[in-house]
Amino acid sequence: MSGSPLAAADGNGMQQDPNCIFCKIARGEIPSRKVYEDDTIVAFHDISPVAPVHLLLIPKAHVPTLYETTAAHEAVLGRMLAIAGRLAREQGAADGFRTIVNTGRVGRQEVMHVHIHVIGGPDPLGPMIVRKVSQGD
Ligand code: 5GP
Ligand code: ZN
Repeated sequence: MSGSPLAAADGNGMQQDPNCIFCKIARGEIPSRKVYEDDTIVAFHDISPVAPVHLLLIPKAHVPTLYETTAAHEAVLGRMLAIAGRLAREQGAADGFRTIVNTGRVGRQEVMHVHIHVIGGPDPLGPMIVRKVSQGD
């Protein structure tokens, strides 16, 4: 189940949404600074980092939010978390980092393709990650 009427399986049986920016990054159609890729996940630098290290880990298959994940996604979700520490350390967050998964409107999720933020750097983060929000938000 994709959760999107536009999502369809590609030649490898992987769910893809042709209009999804992270699907395009996963396919290499939009450039990104990738730090890791295997058969089911991709990790790349956030285009608008909130800290010296700000990675996004995504499944290659299109899944909009944590509301659509099922037991079928356990392996890929586990793989993303399992590699987060290694990638954080490699990118310069060797003494701690924060993982965030924003979900839906209330969670202020902007890109509707499940992703884990890995945020850190040499110095401690603030108690909350604050992004500038436009008026009316
Ligand atoms: P969300 O608010 O959905 O949890 O986070 C989406 C994240 O994706 C944001 O931190 C934003 O900066 C990042 N982002 C949006 N578009 C792009 C893009 O085209 N490339 C990269 N690398 N990051 C993006
Ligand atoms: Zn997608």
